[in-house]
Amino acid sequence: MTQPTVESLVTYDSWGHYPVSTPSQVIVLDEQPELPARWEATLLPYGNGCSYGDVCLNNGGTLLVTRAANTLLDADWERGVVRCQAGMTIGDLNSASLPHGWLVPVTPGTQLVTLGGALANDVHGKNHHGAGSFGCHIRCFELMRSDGSTRICSANKHAEFFFGTIGGLGLTGLVSWVELALKRVPGPWLEVETIKYADLDEFARLSDESMDFEYAVAWIDCSSPNGRGVFQRANHVATRTRRAPESRTRFELPFTPSFSLVGSVTTTLFNAAYFGARRSRALAIRSSGEFFYPLDNVGGWNRIYGRRGFVQFQCVIPNPGGYAGVARLLTLMRTSRMGSFLTVLKHMGEKRSGGYLSFPRSGVTLAVDFPFRGEPTQRLLARLEDEVLSSGGAVYPAKDALMSNAAFEALSDCHDEFTAVRDRAFESDFIRRVQPRP
Ligand SMILES: Cc1cc2nc3c(=O)[nH]c(=O)nc-3n(C[C@H](O)[C@H](O)[C@H](O)COP(=O)(O)OP(=O)(O)OC[C@H]3O[C@@H](n4cnc5c(N)ncnc54)[C@H](O)[C@@H]3O)c2cc1C
Repeated sequence: MTQPTVESLVTYDSWGHYPVSTPSQVIVLDEQPELPARWEATLLPYGNGCSYGDVCLNNGGTLLVTRAANTLLDADWERGVVRCQAGMTIGDLNSASLPHGWLVPVTPGTQLVTLGGALANDVHGKNHHGAGSFGCHIRCFELMRSDGSTRICSANKHAEFFFGTIGGLGLTGLVSWVELALKRVPGPWLEVETIKYADLDEFARLSDESMDFEYAVAWIDCSSPNGRGVFQRANHVATRTRRAPESRTRFELPFTPSFSLVGSVTTTLFNAAYFGARRSRALAIRSSGEFFYPLDNVGGWNRIYGRRGFVQFQCVIPNPGGYAGVARLLTLMRTSRMGSFLTVLKHMGEKRSGGYLSFPRSGVTLAVDFPFRGEPTQRLLARLEDEVLSSGGAVYPAKDALMSNAAFEALSDCHDEFTAVRDRAFESDFIRRVQPRP
């Protein structure tokens, strides 16, 4: 066994730069990942830190950084089945599989996430209404536990560890590799239809009539009183109109300003201008990189919120009643004068991975973000959370920095099953916050 590198890092943060956390030890795993024989305090895997809040942080404990364990171990390009080390990113896997006509079947809005991170948050994408979440496409994975044991887990073997680890927030052990069934695609292109809509009723109608599209999602102008926005739906198409542009960062925000460049005025102006600039209906051919990862074009865009960082809040509210619930959330945001810069709305489908703590479920999901301003931000998020819980909904841990114990309990009916497979040596700032020790 090669020895892992031990880094002494001062701070580690996640995508929102809030909260900031100081692990006492950072171990960078290499291409033969193993759990260390000794560690300080507690353990937590760290993928690429693309979670917005604190699920990937471990203040005072040990972080196991997986990014260097990123080898494609095996690929069957006939059947579209790959086995990859958990530190491989979705972007790297797509680059390897697209020339063979396969794509990662479920992808979030950035290709920087690792497969281990995608598994542990059971991430969802613009195709959730048809394809379900990332966990629905996992065939098996290897799980390393702090007692030195190793298990290959699938829906049929060690099923309790399989379903505990999918969406298990890194708390059941270290996933070393993942075997995944990919999606067959005719090439890198999608035909994307963009439609402006006037209010949430029209969004609901568009969502219903777009169920046969592979992808559907909307951006909301949160400064408008009725939830107007821009709806996008898309399908993969075979076309050779132009060479697919390389997916890469085109612009890098060079520094973190001391204050947030996003305020209520800029948010209102940006939202109104974005809505105003769209045509009422348009059809275009886009590469998969352009369609799935528009935010990856601007490196370090998360720095615009300044040194205090920002928080996301994503929830899902079941139907019937999902749209009325979303309308109440938008009203709460408007009356608190805290608009969200980037607001995303999507109808989520019935298919579930079975992950004990998995967030993705049927209903309407809303994702919003706010610069972190201390108490006013905490107050608003608490009110949004109350509204979601009273509508029977759930809050997404991957996007969270402020969730309460009540919201964590409401996430799932399977907390006991999860507790039974949790590895007690693994902890995160998130779990200590939502489930403080008595
Ligand atoms: C721009 C942007 C857009 C996004 N869009 C979406 C979206 O559309 N849908 C969505 O669902 N999410 C979305 N996200 C959130 C993101 O997909 C998730 O937070 C994802 O889990 C981050 O992966 P990561 O590799 O960075 O893991 P990290 O954030 O580092 O870790 C996430 C969790 O995974 C655990 N973990 C990591 N590696 C392993 C491992 N090898 N074994 C066990 N546990 C492990 C960690 O302990 C932690 O609990 C978005 C994030 C960004 C920044």
